[in-house]
Amino acid sequence: MSEDYCTIREAPTPPKADGPPYAECVQCRKPTEYPESYKGITLCPVCEWQEAQRTACSG
Ligand SMILES: [Zn+2]
Repeated sequence: MSEDYCTIREAPTPPKADGPPYAECVQCRKPTEYPESYKGITLCPVCEWQEAQRTACSG
């Protein structure tokens, strides 16, 4: 019997910004909810969701 499950790697969530300027989404360049000073990958809610779908279970 084989167990078939996916391992979802939990990525650290960037802090939410209190206000503008917001960082751009690295994929679609729309403003995200994260502060511009955040050093890292910032994704807008849409891309974040798509990324989660992509990385969750592939195959
Ligand atoms: Zn985006």
